[in-house]
Amino acid sequence: MKFAIVILAFLFAMNMLAQSKPAADLVITNAKVWTGDKARPTAQAIAVIGDRIVAVGSNAEVDVLRGSTTKVIDARGKLLLPGFNDAHVHFVDGGLQLDSVQLNDTTSTDEFVRRIGEQAKKTPKGEWIQGGDWDETKWSPPNLPTKELIDPVTPDNPAFLSRYDGHAGLANSAALRLAGVTAQTPDPPGGVIVRDAQGNPTGVLKDAAKDLVDRVIPPLSHDQRLRAMRRALEYAASLGVTSVQHMNNDGSKDSFIDIRAYGELLQSGELTTRVYVAPAISDWEDQAKIGIRHAFGSSFLRIGALKSFADGSLGSRTAYFFDPYTDDPTNSGLLGKQMQPLSRIRDWMTQADAAGLQLCTHAIGDRAISTVLDLYTDVVKANRGMERRFRIEHAQHMAAKDFARFAQLDVIASVQPYQAIDDGRWAEARIGHDRASRTYAFRTFLNHGVHLAFGTDWDVAPLNPLLTVYAAVTRATLDGKNPNGWFPEQKLTVEEAVEAYTMGSAYAEFQEREKGSITPGKLADVVLLSDDIFSIDPAKIRDVKVLKTIVGGRLVWDVDRKKQYSTAN
Ligand SMILES: [Zn+2]
Repeated sequence: MKFAIVILAFLFAMNMLAQSKPAADLVITNAKVWTGDKARPTAQAIAVIGDRIVAVGSNAEVDVLRGSTTKVIDARGKLLLPGFNDAHVHFVDGGLQLDSVQLNDTTSTDEFVRRIGEQAKKTPKGEWIQGGDWDETKWSPPNLPTKELIDPVTPDNPAFLSRYDGHAGLANSAALRLAGVTAQTPDPPGGVIVRDAQGNPTGVLKDAAKDLVDRVIPPLSHDQRLRAMRRALEYAASLGVTSVQHMNNDGSKDSFIDIRAYGELLQSGELTTRVYVAPAISDWEDQAKIGIRHAFGSSFLRIGALKSFADGSLGSRTAYFFDPYTDDPTNSGLLGKQMQPLSRIRDWMTQADAAGLQLCTHAIGDRAISTVLDLYTDVVKANRGMERRFRIEHAQHMAAKDFARFAQLDVIASVQPYQAIDDGRWAEARIGHDRASRTYAFRTFLNHGVHLAFGTDWDVAPLNPLLTVYAAVTRATLDGKNPNGWFPEQKLTVEEAVEAYTMGSAYAEFQEREKGSITPGKLADVVLLSDDIFSIDPAKIRDVKVLKTIVGGRLVWDVDRKKQYSTAN
């Protein structure tokens, strides 16, 4: 009898113990944890229940949460970081690019034709073959390609393959037929139909002549869009990107179609990257009329932002500056279409802000940035007391006077450091030393107390976050000419770069309480890296690999198994 009471008391005690310490679903142990949380900057282990982090501490502290059903990952001393949050992507374009034919590095027409033939074999009959980025100057002789080269390998598909600069494309005969382009078609204004000695089109269409084919290419089908998203999700998981902020393209209506497709993937458990979508400002009423405010939605899919465009790009000399381009004295760039007239965009922005929507505006040249700051100033005056987080996307070339205004209006600089090592090869020739000194000026932004959010603008630049961290930390241009950094005074530390990519990007989407650091209570979005980027030579950061990616407590990428997982099980 006495014995039974002891047993009962023992079982009762065990039960109490079990109740006070519920078992974790996942424990990651023996890690070098960089938390991004000032309250506890480093740790050895974390525990996860459901999709949330419940404990961060030493191996021993976290070990007490280990139960019989707990999945344990031994990190073997590797670095564990909060997941990367890419604050500016074109996710569907990126997914399409992954599956399109790559021609830029072909060194002969034979190779060019062979790759197009391979692409044709895996493309469903009748579907367009696009992409390419060919560059005939890499071939000998460096002649423009012709439709006769590619017709035999593309019997069942129209093809329109772009030159790397976007100023020309090669159509096959099927594409020309669909476009109705014949020997009788006149060159359109601003364009050239390249012709042979008999006057027949060769397939190459330059500038405005490209529109003749572009306009007959059908919009993406639902299946193509889903396929592109699945490819992009898989790729993001493999790179440790656990959240993306999906930016509208040029005022198109596609963002709403994209949201619908993301919604389907969410429902089927396939959405393994968290997405925040910014449709076009011109459609602001579509969100406002049903009461959508900034960051509305679930942890995996949010809307409530708006994307505007104030100018073009430095590469195409359409970025809008106060002074002319140094190497083109009659050109100062162009104020974007959406900004004309300014009264209309001011009206849209003011009403959208009053509705609680978040404004994200593409501005690259100093005058475009200044113009957006003027507009934001007007919005603040019109709508007092709103909780808002203005953003300027790119914020590439700053006027000296505008750093302080940026800070004062509390505008987030949503920047893409990879561009600094890419454009840095030629930007100074185009805009001169003085303006180049305030280009991708990440250090100056931080010195002024401006919030930085990091991203890539994928598919314009590579999605790999480690390449972006490398770029921000080294500023070593891709041509190898600035090994100690292009405007090295603007370099960031690795900690600052990772913080901009995690907490900074989370702040830019109103999610800093939900993610961005490894903190108990936050979403369990973490990445395990092959090397400690805080201690290795910064030049090697670009080669670091992602070993595991975990989103909401679930493993979505494991380098050992080279496979991606869905979040449904
Ligand atoms: Zn973009």
